[in-house]
Amino acid sequence: MEKQKILINAVRLKDTLEEFADFGRTENNGVTRLALSDVDLKVRKHFQSECEHLGMTVVSDDMANMYATLAGINNDQPPVVVGSHLDSVKKGGRFDGVLGVLTGLEVVRTLVENGIKPQVPIVVANITNEEGARFEPAMMSSGVLSGRFDKATMLQSTDTDGLTFGEALKNSGFEGKEENRLTDAAAFLELHIEQGPILESESLQIGVVEGVVGMVNYEIEVSGESDHAGTTPMPMRKDALFATNNLITEIREKMNKLDDKLVYTIGRMNVSPNIHTVIPNKVVFTLEARHQDTKTIRQVEEIIEGLTESSDKEKCEVKTTKQWDRNTVWFDKKIVNLLEQTTKTIGYSYKRMVSGAGHDSQFISTYTPTAMIFVPSVNGKSHAEDELTFWEDCENGVNVILQTVLDLTTK
Ligand SMILES: [Zn+2]
Repeated sequence: MEKQKILINAVRLKDTLEEFADFGRTENNGVTRLALSDVDLKVRKHFQSECEHLGMTVVSDDMANMYATLAGINNDQPPVVVGSHLDSVKKGGRFDGVLGVLTGLEVVRTLVENGIKPQVPIVVANITNEEGARFEPAMMSSGVLSGRFDKATMLQSTDTDGLTFGEALKNSGFEGKEENRLTDAAAFLELHIEQGPILESESLQIGVVEGVVGMVNYEIEVSGESDHAGTTPMPMRKDALFATNNLITEIREKMNKLDDKLVYTIGRMNVSPNIHTVIPNKVVFTLEARHQDTKTIRQVEEIIEGLTESSDKEKCEVKTTKQWDRNTVWFDKKIVNLLEQTTKTIGYSYKRMVSGAGHDSQFISTYTPTAMIFVPSVNGKSHAEDELTFWEDCENGVNVILQTVLDLTTK
């Protein structure tokens, strides 16, 4: 078979992406489709009927993850899975997640119209609540599938109306059997928008994703003393905010000397008592840092933990608490190489890269061979209504997945 000649239908892909964006489309052409909300249930039904129309069988598991299966020749063999998520954040975009699910749909449509019967089954997966926007945490269901999260705890997660995930699951009509869970696959492939500016800035078409970067999260508490802002001479103060200012300068000086791929963020800060005539007695702030090498993350931890001994803390006390960390996940080398080879053969420009954002694939990769590719995000934007990936870039990415699926299922 001359598999290189088979390509996806770009017009159909674009039309389908727009059709799915109608489920929850916002005024500014974004999408709000929170997990298991009415509009999510509608898009799930639509997805199911599109799959069934192709002769696929659709089941869901006990976390409402959906699996649409195209039967192959040897159906007792592990399937090749293509998947991502149909849920979005509030006022998110038209590409994040849904592109990866519709990649699977377009691949199957292409196979069916070309009369290709795969050797092994092909599954298109929609993983529930990747975003964690309605029910925390993010990547909830892949976390349960991989054993990283406890299901009973997840069922108790509540949305802002006080409804639990367990209740939403019961009401959804998509709560299936645990035995339907994805347990074994020949490969799990996820196409996702990059959500960062690298591919666009380097004018590259495809990112072959080798893994997801590890990260560490700290909370840092600086304690001083509150006094009157008018009557306390400067040398007699213990100003927690001035101390924090010095600490941040110290953090930046030291962190910037580490690897240039290190990213770090002070995303939250609370100043107490937060009254303009009172010297702040307490500042609590978070610091998260991400890097692919454990060694660099350890250096970050040393810098943060060393802050308690800082000479420049305005007579304040500093306490650092590590909240959680997560090691870098490396995807399956064989699948990564296959995706790279396919990209090269088709002739797309690409680079190997690691993801700074979390994805279901990172949990799924802990028990089955998994890898991802990225397509460029205009201005690096995502989780926003103006999230955009050009149709041609979507098409390129889906063609890489199609050729990879053909490689894995027709040889
Ligand atoms: Zn996503």
